[in-house]
Amino acid sequence: MKILIVEDQARLGQFLEKSLTECSYTVTWVRSCRAAMDAIAETDFAAILLDLGLPDGDGLDLLHKWRKAGFNEPVLILSARDSVENRIKGLDFGADDYLPKPFSFEELRARVRSLVRRQSSVKLAVLEHRGIRLDLSSHTVSFLDQPVELTKREYALLEIFMLNIGRILTRTLISEKIWSSQYDVDTNLLDVYMSRLRAKFDKGAEDPMFKTVRGIGYQLA
Ligand code: CA
Repeated sequence: MKILIVEDQARLGQFLEKSLTECSYTVTWVRSCRAAMDAIAETDFAAILLDLGLPDGDGLDLLHKWRKAGFNEPVLILSARDSVENRIKGLDFGADDYLPKPFSFEELRARVRSLVRRQSSVKLAVLEHRGIRLDLSSHTVSFLDQPVELTKREYALLEIFMLNIGRILTRTLISEKIWSSQYDVDTNLLDVYMSRLRAKFDKGAEDPMFKTVRGIGYQLA
């Protein structure tokens, strides 16, 4: 199981590298945004531990770039910037979890374990959330045990949300995945498709599943 550590502080980086290696993870430790970009372009990681204050940039910008480019690796932010605003910002930018410094190794290990577990459950053939059941192998969907008919594009859209439950997905990211780059995407089309999904799964729901995040995109909550 491969873990990427992005941390410029030598003592902490060394400690994490050593301790996680002892827990049988294969660890890559880098100290800059640049090296982190290279590492993620080269290999898939089961989880990424991301410091925010890096010598050549901000970890949040790095995370933002990754998510925009479609990298789905689970990211745990490690940071001394422990304000609520910072946590929200990190999560909005696509982090999966946030651990304020200083932390105990036991706590870190538990968080990493849960991230990795979440990631590997994504590879299961069936994704389930709030009554939606999406079968990745047969490409079928049911809702509250009733089969739901979806067009190819509707299915693709739902699949992206089911693979990223709770994560805010930008309009660009979604459009690029669904319509790929050969089409000149009319972003209104995305709204049309979103209302179709809502009609099928959010009908009369008090707490809607598909949330509009103003100015950013959508989220399956
Ligand atoms: Ca730092």
